[in-house]
Amino acid sequence: MDTSSGDSTGSHLSENSAAKNRRRVCDKHNLADLFMSRTDANPFRRFVKCPERVRGCTFFDWVDDPMPDYQTTWVGRPKLQKEALEDQVHAKLAVVKNLSERIVVKEREIMLLQGRCAELEALVKKCHRESRLRKGIFAGIVVVLLIVVVFFVVV
Ligand SMILES: [Zn+2]
Repeated sequence: MDTSSGDSTGSHLSENSAAKNRRRVCDKHNLADLFMSRTDANPFRRFVKCPERVRGCTFFDWVDDPMPDYQTTWVGRPKLQKEALEDQVHAKLAVVKNLSERIVVKEREIMLLQGRCAELEALVKKCHRESRLRKGIFAGIVVVLLIVVVFFVVV
């Protein structure tokens, strides 16, 4: 007798007339509770077990016959599809994580380049200032030379 379907893999069923007729009693004459298995090996297969199980009564029995393999395959298919989709989601999440990390790296590179850009702009402004100053000095020298030349020509 397979007793692998415990509370964690089966759900308690409410009684209907058909189920009630199939309910059984254990050796201690306790009326067994009806459950439905959710395991891969026995999907949707009903079973009974004693409510006194916690006190050591091991009464357990299947209500339904085992499902044929081809039906188990069909019943299990949505679960396999779900697992495949979950794998795809995990793969996509890994891609998203990788891209997010690359974005962080690129943002850091952009910040470095912006800093370099600001340095170069400051350098260009400095060069323009020095260039204007040199032009001013040159113009001043030319004016002084002209005055000197005019002075000598007149005199
Ligand atoms: Zn019992």
